[in-house]
Amino acid sequence: MSVGEDGIYDIDASNIHSTVKMDKTATAKARSSRIIRISANPDIVVFLGRERDHVLIDSHYCSCTAFTISTGSGELKGCSHIGALEVAVREGLILDISSSISKGEMERIIWEVLTGEFTMTLRRILHKKHTTG
Ligand SMILES: [Zn+2]
Repeated sequence: MSVGEDGIYDIDASNIHSTVKMDKTATAKARSSRIIRISANPDIVVFLGRERDHVLIDSHYCSCTAFTISTGSGELKGCSHIGALEVAVREGLILDISSSISKGEMERIIWEVLTGEFTMTLRRILHKKHTTG
């Protein structure tokens, strides 16, 4: 696996666990990010980032620019979020709210991430959970 300056790196799909384990960027990203599962089936998680949020679907699709560029090249590639998701799953760092939000809220969260930069709906839900326990 090689990491480019643009954050794109190749994923060896047959050996993803060991390659990701060696990737300090993915590990750091997993530990510093807030990764929220908003749907269990299909598996949809949201990365709450500092600059913008991203949606990841079934660990195969990411809404970030690096992923779009890498898939456009026709090779099996990914982005640092997909690597970080693997780490987060393994280390149990994902906050799962999929059973406590409505379908409408889930759809609004995805729409906000894909059309804007941040999902205010998800932040509002997390804030409410935090303040009410
Ligand atoms: Zn990404």
